[in-house]
Amino acid sequence: MLDRPLVLATRNQGKIAEFKDLFSGFQVNVKSLSDFGPIPPVSEDGNTFEENAYKKAHFTARVLGFPALADDSGLVVDALKGAPGIRSARFCGENARDEQNNLKLLKMMEGVTNRRAAFECVIVIAVPRGAALVYEGRCEGEIANEMRGVKGFGYDPVFYYPPMEKTFGEMSGKEKNRVSHRGKAMARLQEEFGKVLVWIEQRLSEEPA
Ligand code: IMP
Repeated sequence: MLDRPLVLATRNQGKIAEFKDLFSGFQVNVKSLSDFGPIPPVSEDGNTFEENAYKKAHFTARVLGFPALADDSGLVVDALKGAPGIRSARFCGENARDEQNNLKLLKMMEGVTNRRAAFECVIVIAVPRGAALVYEGRCEGEIANEMRGVKGFGYDPVFYYPPMEKTFGEMSGKEKNRVSHRGKAMARLQEEFGKVLVWIEQRLSEEPA
């Protein structure tokens, strides 16, 4: 058993539940930011998903002195040169709602024939000092012509996944997890999680007391 908790650098209850479930068979005490008092927020001002995930994980690990895990994700559209990308959550402004972001995207894609797009997800595990581990997942699809389905969140209703002939908004959580960017990144992490715990232990034992 790792002698320190692994902290999920998020207060998003959905993500917390998913990660706790993923690690349930392992000897590790998983906590999240919700288990600690207020800590200053990190500005997600990196240029890539990886930079932002690293910033969140590394900052949390340094502030709390525990190993930490963070993820960052978004939608990358070919015809928009990778937008909305790292700005996915705030495509339509700081407090934009999902529907506004989707409508803006559909408007920008009106008459565009190349509708290729991908969801990307990066998970970073950091210790207070030194190197970090990175896991990535990507799911390719197309931007639909209109919103379809009411399940999921974010851009799910406009992300069409050809192999299943459905948008993510029309899939159950289980169906989506099997093929999604986050599902794939998580599966890769889960596969290696035993080794990850050994890696964390070694890094922590090398740190000055
Ligand atoms: P974050 O990684 O939680 O910061 O998510 C960034 C943004 O990317 C979200 O607010 C959504 O707009 C979008 N996004 C990321 N993953 C998904 C997904 O699985 N479905 C739909 N939208 C997503």
